[in-house]
Amino acid sequence: MTGSRRGETAMAAGDWDRFRQDVVTRPIHGWARGALPSLSATEREALEAGQTWWDADLLSGDPDWNKLLAVAKPRLSDAERDFLDGPCETLCGMLDDWRINRLDGDLPPEVWQYMKDEKFFGLIIPKSRGGLEFSAFAHSEVVRYIAGRSLVAAITVMVPNSLGPGELLLQFGTEAQKDYWLPRLADGREIPAFALTSEEAGSDAASMVDSGVVCKGEWEGEEVLGIRLNWSKRYITLAPVCTVLGLAFKLYDPDGLIGEEEEIGITCALVPTHLDGVETGRRHIPSQIMFQNGPTTGRDVFIPLDNIIGGRECAGHGWMMLMSALAAGRGISLPSMSSAGVALAAHTSGAYARIRQQFGTPIGKMEGIQARLGPLAANAYALDSARRLTCAGLDEGRALAVISGIMKAHSTYRMREALDDAMDIHSGKAVIDGPSNYLLPLHRGVPLGITVEGANIVTRNLIIFGQGAIRAHPHMLDEMLALEERSDRLSLARFDEHFWKHVSHTTRTLIRATEHAWTDGRYAQVPDCGRATPIYRQMTRWSAALALTSEAVFLFLGGGLKRKEMISARMGDMLSELYFLSATVKRWEDDGRPEADFPLVQFSAERAFAQIRVALDEVLANFPNRWAAAVLRVLLRPGRPARGPDDALVKECSDVLYTPSQTRDRLVGRMFGGCERDGIRVLGEAFERVVATERTTAKLRALGMTPDEAVRAGVLSRDESDDHGRMMAAVQRAIAVDDFSQEELAGLLAGYRNAAPDGGARQGVPDES
Ligand SMILES: Cc1cc2nc3c(=O)[nH]c(=O)nc-3n(C[C@H](O)[C@H](O)[C@H](O)COP(=O)(O)OP(=O)(O)OC[C@H]3O[C@@H](n4cnc5c(N)ncnc54)[C@H](O)[C@@H]3O)c2cc1C
Repeated sequence: MTGSRRGETAMAAGDWDRFRQDVVTRPIHGWARGALPSLSATEREALEAGQTWWDADLLSGDPDWNKLLAVAKPRLSDAERDFLDGPCETLCGMLDDWRINRLDGDLPPEVWQYMKDEKFFGLIIPKSRGGLEFSAFAHSEVVRYIAGRSLVAAITVMVPNSLGPGELLLQFGTEAQKDYWLPRLADGREIPAFALTSEEAGSDAASMVDSGVVCKGEWEGEEVLGIRLNWSKRYITLAPVCTVLGLAFKLYDPDGLIGEEEEIGITCALVPTHLDGVETGRRHIPSQIMFQNGPTTGRDVFIPLDNIIGGRECAGHGWMMLMSALAAGRGISLPSMSSAGVALAAHTSGAYARIRQQFGTPIGKMEGIQARLGPLAANAYALDSARRLTCAGLDEGRALAVISGIMKAHSTYRMREALDDAMDIHSGKAVIDGPSNYLLPLHRGVPLGITVEGANIVTRNLIIFGQGAIRAHPHMLDEMLALEERSDRLSLARFDEHFWKHVSHTTRTLIRATEHAWTDGRYAQVPDCGRATPIYRQMTRWSAALALTSEAVFLFLGGGLKRKEMISARMGDMLSELYFLSATVKRWEDDGRPEADFPLVQFSAERAFAQIRVALDEVLANFPNRWAAAVLRVLLRPGRPARGPDDALVKECSDVLYTPSQTRDRLVGRMFGGCERDGIRVLGEAFERVVATERTTAKLRALGMTPDEAVRAGVLSRDESDDHGRMMAAVQRAIAVDDFSQEELAGLLAGYRNAAPDGGARQGVPDES
């Protein structure tokens, strides 16, 4: 092409661009400015903190399964395994949750000391700073193992290793701060707490009134520039015993001492609790799980500017820091605790269903019980698979903003579901409190998981899809940022660039989603994964449906999505189901496709697809634009109505918990076996004996004889009869519940009466007198 021809073509292209921008894009740009959500500063910081990963593939409508399968299976190093087998095992042996929750109200001093000595508070701190530098997976395994034994101990370990100042310092601290604080946090010389929530600011944490004012003051004998702090926080885990608070507050600089801005914004700083004006020590009683949790206040507490995490430059960046730090904690702490709870519920319910007989039959043989055991087994498998995949993502160095939200909300919801199943299966045995009840403390702990680190309703209804879809979309955030440009011309040019790519993306999504829906995913390109291959095809089908529906949600709801929380929640549920299911098939692949585990995979798939169908139906039934809903229904929902796993599959999964096997062991995972007279150990022994003497039991039933009669008749050996007797005694011990004398009960209640004769104080409530 000659120079002039090329110039003409370039001009023609430039003219066309201008024409398209001015005539076609401009009205759409004007409409979009009104329709798409405008971002507040905190929303923008939340959206910019953290990364997308597998969530983006699932929302794309065309997930690259090879990418998922290439993620390394999480493994423990020798040192990490030794830690689990050594200090973790020892710690669990030192814990007695009944004593801690009902009698002592705290971990015993020797447990605190052991945790410090063995660096349980330094799991995430690098070795170079005195910590253990464990992988996310090892960290999760440690929390999971301890949580299966004691929630108090697990939560005590969780906080310093997640949201405590440790994570914030690691991500944002200055070198001097890291040098000073990390070694002291690692070996427990300092006990941290993280204080964000206040009376008026719970879910809307950014609305806090806790303040810091830049001023001069005295610090270690010298006059320095610093901050005068006032705060009143509540619900703060470890606050009653902490030596350093990671405090979030709003920073003001009315005298312009550090810059021109008067309102600098949310800031995080380290506040040693020995300073004048700091009050800690009072305690809340969260669900009668007696970990250290309480309010803290500060009146005119002075700290130097150097105590701002990250130094002076990080003043006002607290919200972004909190959002980034949340990603790791949310992805590990509560999912690990939930996984422990679900595994324990599954293990004990299966064992109890085997040893407990009614109407002359083990209750586990009854369909009503199987209907609860089956889902419990699959739930345990799927939840642990999702935990593993999330840890693998974190170990690749990713800050998983949306996935950690999915994990936080759905692992704790699944824990609630599992513990409800377990409680129903155990009935009276689980309801009666006492040292031998292995379920009730976990059941009491469920609301803790659902509330902390951002209450689940907000996470499910606002964050998972609300943020996830925008973050993961290849063009949406760019379009929104373009719309926020102050200069009209620049805004239009940038919007035009991304909008047309968006149109082409939507067109491809529409064709893909329709094709997969009408062919039931039969032609979806997926890797050969043996029996699981059809599940991958179906996942691609529903991922495409999710992607197309997301486009419709953006188009018809725009900024209104924030208020349409029920639609947002259901869209988030579709994404969350796909995430849990992809983690489940990935685990099956990582484990070498064990045939015996496949019913659990199949159940998880049937459950997920049924939930997705229901969620999509409900989105369409409530979609504000009825024409769009009708078109989407035709495109996306041909075929059968939602239907979950069938009864035969439920029974197969129930059998996994009813009968010892490698599949059962894999599903339960590492679990502390209990100390000598613990309910869980007594149950385990009874389970083993019932299984071992099954033939004897069947023989006696068929003969209609007692063991003694059978021995006398010569059809049973004395050894067999003795084993049977030991089994019966073990079952008696396992089904027993605790009771208390009047005096013992009075002793238990006296503790509370003495501590709070007038019902305790209420923070922030003025004294009526
Ligand atoms: C045991 C425990 C330990 C904790 N530990 C700490 C800690 O160490 N540090 C710390 O800073 N904080 C901590 N918290 C605070 C915790 O993060 C908050 O409790 C949580 O963020 C919810 O705040 P809230 O309880 O005030 O509920 P609220 O904000 O009053 O919410 C009440 C209900 O409304 C829902 N809701 C609120 N806004 C919306 C919305 N826009 N749309 C739909 N639903 C909405 C919520 O989901 C919730 O269901 C802890 C809390 C507990 C109970």
